[in-house]
Amino acid sequence: MTDLNIGGIVKRTKIYGPGWRSAVWLQGCTLACKGCWNKKLWPTKGGTFYTHEELLSELLSATDCEGVTFLGGEPLQQAEALLPLLKDLRAIGKSIFIYSGYNRDELDETQLACVEQADIVVLGRYIQELRNTNLRWRGSENQVVEFLTDRYSTEDMNGEASEYEVHIHPDGTTTVLGYPPTDPQSLYS
Ligand code: SF4
Repeated sequence: MTDLNIGGIVKRTKIYGPGWRSAVWLQGCTLACKGCWNKKLWPTKGGTFYTHEELLSELLSATDCEGVTFLGGEPLQQAEALLPLLKDLRAIGKSIFIYSGYNRDELDETQLACVEQADIVVLGRYIQELRNTNLRWRGSENQVVEFLTDRYSTEDMNGEASEYEVHIHPDGTTTVLGYPPTDPQSLYS
């Protein structure tokens, strides 16, 4: 199986979908949306390669998380490697949330198969002119939250709201997830 190029993993978060979830940022994106806040995830160089087994083990160690959210970068530009991981996570009972900058009609067969494994997807480019900081789980108004299974529904969104998290690490450093109301801080600063 092909290894996955990973830009970052947060094992427990509550802002990228329903309930406690692990979040995985895949490294590499060629879509180049104007105003993208994750430009450090554009290059395919710079990530860490995980085997299927390594990443699965890492995610399953977050035993209190009900699901995994995949962001980018562009997760579906690693669709061949991602698909078996999604299938294994789903078989184990984890819910799947995928963010992709692609529109559905741009997806090839393997990318569509990834989407079919998901309970929730947000598809479409980030469009800076349509940025809305009051949306839950997405950044611009063209992006729509799609519920693909009956595991979740709009009730799990609990309305629209902007959220961010500050993770304080044992060494005193912090990581900000999401977009706070003041100047943005990048994910891994
Ligand atoms: S798809 Fe996501 S990571 Fe890629 S350029 Fe657009 S906003 Fe940035």
